Amino acid sequence: MEKKGILVVVSGFSGSGKGTIMKELLSRYDNYALSVSATTRNPREGEQDGREYFFKTREEFEEMIASDALIEYACYVENYYGTPRAYVEEQLALGKDVILEIEIQGALQIRKRFPDTLLLFISPPDARTLEKRLVGRGTESMDVIENRLSRAVEEAEGIESYDYFIINDDLNTCVEQVHRLIQGEHSRVSRSLELINEIRTELKEFQKG
Ligand code: ADP
Ligand code: 5GP
Repeated sequence: MEKKGILVVVSGFSGSGKGTIMKELLSRYDNYALSVSATTRNPREGEQDGREYFFKTREEFEEMIASDALIEYACYVENYYGTPRAYVEEQLALGKDVILEIEIQGALQIRKRFPDTLLLFISPPDARTLEKRLVGRGTESMDVIENRLSRAVEEAEGIESYDYFIINDDLNTCVEQVHRLIQGEHSRVSRSLELINEIRTELKEFQKG
């Protein structure tokens, strides 16, 4: 039987290691498709248009909103971020588990629109480690880092909306935990109702004899 993929949201404070974990997960396993978001923020050094993000002007982004080309979008620290619809629908239909690495406002929109989405929240072991990782990454000014850390306070309030809370201390352990949780989700009863009904029908054949 053809099985549709699972939609997975991965959120976490900026600097918690989401990008690093996703890169590792995709290099180890081939049933995952990572959605590339559109954003109005400027590319960081080394980021390529179409690989990390589709970099858009504010006008282009608002045009995507107007034409319903995004399945969710949000404003995060003064920039727009959103998930293009076409790729997600196409990959799910192909049976891939599609991962959206997005912040909490977007995560909540997705859960509302697609209630069987799996929501994962990634956290560093403690707040000091978060600050160290953000500073250590060296991609933002101290100003932007402070904004992101204060945004983390708000995001922490929303963690109960997620299904699983995963600590990214040792990278390898964390990647394997994310993989196991997604694979486990495939066995949820509500995802196999068609097959369950087929087995029920087959079993009833025994009663006839
Ligand atoms: P996010 O995508 O959540 O903003 P990143 O993946 O960019 O975070 O990670 C932030 C920084 O922390 C990067 O410099 C990355 O190399 C580092 N990092 C990620 N995971 C770990 C880990 N398990 N242990 C130590 N450093 C890590
Ligand atoms: P960054 O600027 O560090 O790449 O991303 C900032 C935040 O925006 C992160 O929390 C990231 O998960 C989130 N983000 C990235 N893409 C999207 C998206 O398409 N939609 C939403 N809602 N958030 C996104």
